[in-house]
Amino acid sequence: MADTSATSLVLLRGGRVLDPSTGLDEVGDVLLRDGKVEHAGAPLGEVRRDGDLTEVDCRGLVVSPGFIDVHCHLREPGREDVETIATGARAAAAGGFTAVCAMPNTAPVTDNQAAVGFIIRQAQLARAARVYPIGAISVGQRGEALAEFGEMIGAGAVAVSDDGKPVASAQLMRTALEYARAFNIPVADHCEEPTLAHGGAMNEGIVSARLGLKGIPDEAEEIMVIRDILLSRRTGGHVHLCHMSTKGSVELIRWGKERGIRVTAEVCPHHISLTEDAVEGYNTNAKMNPPLRTAADVAALQEAVKDGTIDLVATDHAPHHYDEKEREFSDAPNGIVGLETALAVLVTHLVAPGIISYATLVDRMSCSPARVFGLQGGTLRKGSVGDVTVFDPAASWTVDPASFQTKGRNSPYSGMTLTGRAKCTVVGGQIVYRQNA
Ligand SMILES: [Zn+2]
Ligand SMILES: [Zn+2]
Repeated sequence: MADTSATSLVLLRGGRVLDPSTGLDEVGDVLLRDGKVEHAGAPLGEVRRDGDLTEVDCRGLVVSPGFIDVHCHLREPGREDVETIATGARAAAAGGFTAVCAMPNTAPVTDNQAAVGFIIRQAQLARAARVYPIGAISVGQRGEALAEFGEMIGAGAVAVSDDGKPVASAQLMRTALEYARAFNIPVADHCEEPTLAHGGAMNEGIVSARLGLKGIPDEAEEIMVIRDILLSRRTGGHVHLCHMSTKGSVELIRWGKERGIRVTAEVCPHHISLTEDAVEGYNTNAKMNPPLRTAADVAALQEAVKDGTIDLVATDHAPHHYDEKEREFSDAPNGIVGLETALAVLVTHLVAPGIISYATLVDRMSCSPARVFGLQGGTLRKGSVGDVTVFDPAASWTVDPASFQTKGRNSPYSGMTLTGRAKCTVVGGQIVYRQNA
């Protein structure tokens, strides 16, 4: 008799099971049954093979709740030559991400129910990392009329953002926060005061002066950070600040959090590992917005990841066609790919030097993103969704963008040797990625 409902079992055997959401940290096993966590912790001994069982040897590896990236750009619809939802979701899985949130600055903009539904369908077909759409704050991201939040959320959007652009109008931001509060979703803001940032190609400072490039001052970010915090205080809406890059922003977020204001914040791996010096030689793979800043900013951001002032790490994965990055520095587009190097950058620059522990790394890449954006996952608690990342904390590898799953090759880490690599990524109890498998 054909069994159409065979039990599916995945046994992750003998790893360091690390789940900050439950305080778990011991060598043992994780068993997933029919897409859910059945067991996480002590070694199980012999497992009853009452279904289709896949066993993965995790000795020497860390087994944690799946990483979640709340900020990436998948370029579909509109620029499928640069990335598609499928290639982005596969790149995510290869980086150890079980879920990613897709920013709405596509062409057309994700500002309505049908556009949100399209992303969800494409992601289901990809069968890799989960993809959660983020809807636009304003229609067409034009900064004028609010998009229809209710319809987008009803179709599956998990947040709203005009990322790629700042919300220039404080009045629009205020209304967005009031409206989002009713739906209990975050408003994710790209903090950039447009008149100060205008025409800038890198951090404003000694290096920009020497290279003869127009700079973007810290205040372009910080003015919007404090504006958003004050509007959150006024409205009670949850503001989530994207890709923080300056020491001053950290101080303002700390100020807001001390007063109980609903502000959360993210930092990208590049802003906690590279400085403006990476731009030397007019390296367009170091061009991003906000720009790479100074060593003092990097140190402050690292400290903020450690103490929780910065809630989580997000990639701002932004693939571009190589022709576009080969333009002159001031004309080249902003952004770098990040899904496949995020873990290694954090292990190399934060864990290895003793700034944060592996438990903090897992919290900032998994538990905290799930909490802040209200997503499933981020835990190995019994009965929760079977989204798991297995990574080798000691694997040393040289970054070769040609081997990436993303179509983007624009990485400032190209040729660098980093430590830490995803080995196996499990989404809903299905293995969607295995390195060397
Ligand atoms: Zn942005
Ligand atoms: Zn972005």
